[in-house]
Amino acid sequence: MDVIVIGCGASGLAAIRKLHDAGLQVLGLEAATRIGGRILTVEYCNGTVDLGAAWCHGEKNNIVFELAEPLGLLGKPDDYENYYMISNGELVPRDVCEEIISVLENEVYEADKNTKSISECVRGAINNHEILQKEPHITNWLTAIYEKLNHLGGEDDPKTGKSLRSLEESHICEGEFMLNWKDKGFKALLSVLLNQYPDPSKEIPVQILKNKEVTNVRWRTSQPGDTTNPLVQVKCKDGSLYAAKSVIITVSVGVLKERHANLFNPPLPKEKINCINNMQMCILDKIYIEFTKPWWSKACKYQLLWREEDKAQFSDQDRWIAEIFCLETVEYQPNLLRAWMYGKAAAFMEKLSNDEVKTGVNVLLERVLKKRFDVTPVKSVLRSKWGSNPLTRGAYAYRSVTTEENGGGAAILSEPLYHDNGFPVVCFGGEATSHHYHPNVHGAVEAGFREAERLVESFKKL
Ligand SMILES: Cc1cc2nc3c(=O)[nH]c(=O)nc-3n(C[C@H](O)[C@H](O)[C@H](O)COP(=O)(O)OP(=O)(O)OC[C@H]3O[C@@H](n4cnc5c(N)ncnc54)[C@H](O)[C@@H]3O)c2cc1C
Repeated sequence: MDVIVIGCGASGLAAIRKLHDAGLQVLGLEAATRIGGRILTVEYCNGTVDLGAAWCHGEKNNIVFELAEPLGLLGKPDDYENYYMISNGELVPRDVCEEIISVLENEVYEADKNTKSISECVRGAINNHEILQKEPHITNWLTAIYEKLNHLGGEDDPKTGKSLRSLEESHICEGEFMLNWKDKGFKALLSVLLNQYPDPSKEIPVQILKNKEVTNVRWRTSQPGDTTNPLVQVKCKDGSLYAAKSVIITVSVGVLKERHANLFNPPLPKEKINCINNMQMCILDKIYIEFTKPWWSKACKYQLLWREEDKAQFSDQDRWIAEIFCLETVEYQPNLLRAWMYGKAAAFMEKLSNDEVKTGVNVLLERVLKKRFDVTPVKSVLRSKWGSNPLTRGAYAYRSVTTEENGGGAAILSEPLYHDNGFPVVCFGGEATSHHYHPNVHGAVEAGFREAERLVESFKKL
């Protein structure tokens, strides 16, 4: 075997495809009983929903767009109404909210990128702008929404919030930012990567083993001085052993944080461990809500602005309900709304039973939405659990102020481990190693291609 790819999400599958196309022998090992990782399209309400990635974000320089668009897989979003709804059921005029949000965005854009987190920047913005001081309670509500929508972290300690500096390296792909996968869901990309789409008979003949949780990677197996035969041994939870000349590991930073000490033998170099410890993983979850019939007339989004007095009415056990920050319609699913949760509240929600989540959703509808709309009964709910999933341990990685101060980021994380002869024996893929496009699927795919290309070039020199 030439290469073992550990983890078969978007990044691992991209690596597998490129290695196979270059004529190398490749094996994929995936711990779950399915491929896709944080791409998780499931059947729900006579259609599909995405519990993980849902949209192709942008067109220009976006590898996912380049792969999917020629196959006609991507759809433009519907026009939608954006409502800013206070927790007492009243609406705040859209132009008032949009003006405040654009000031917050500008504050981030203009900020000195060296020191602070984005959260600190937007929280402090009220001191610098008269527009934000006109109705400070609205500014505060919108600042809270802005932080959650942009997954800024730093809820307890601003230093653990996403750093302003990380924005400088983060590239936004131009073009439509919310391209959907029509009724197929994001898993269509997995079929494209494996060349199953549009003609399943053309699937690449590569072995991908599921239910193969890798527990150990021995990466210095050849004798001292033997520089001709670099070999890596991979052990799985079920006791099976595999060997190859090199591996590409694509597991999330959350998984690396939890497992690196046992996963690598010999241990990772100190700089890599430091980087993994210093990088952050955020939690982002979706709750799909099925109604007996739609009570909205067109595509829309309700951004929920929570008054302190309304939040205070919830018990500790129910406080998570007041952290649901957005409810929106779902493309190709007429009876569904999608609710969004972030951070500690999302982690709390993950521990509840499905019935408890459904009850909580009903409380939200009763206390807020029913004040304004004739809300139809909820039939069922379906939610994600990315934080407690042991194979992801979070939604995606980001760089905080602490990461900037103590060292970490894609450049260090993506550095391979080399054999004495300079051959890369352990390569690191996955969204968090993308230098410019984390935390997106196009970053994950690009990182998988990058590491496969690194190995293709190295194999040519062997
Ligand atoms: C709620 C949510 C919404 C998102 N929305 C979008 C979006 O709209 N657009 C977008 O572009 N991106 C979005 N993302 C981000 C996107 O999903 C990820 O960046 C991307 O899917 C990561 O791919 P990956 O291959 O790097 O990692 P993963 O998908 O996590 O793949 C890693 C794989 O490794 C496996 N694994 C873990 N441990 C082991 C082990 N010990 N042995 C073997 N296998 C193992 C896992 O099971 C997994 O399959 C979203 C993410 C979340 C969570």
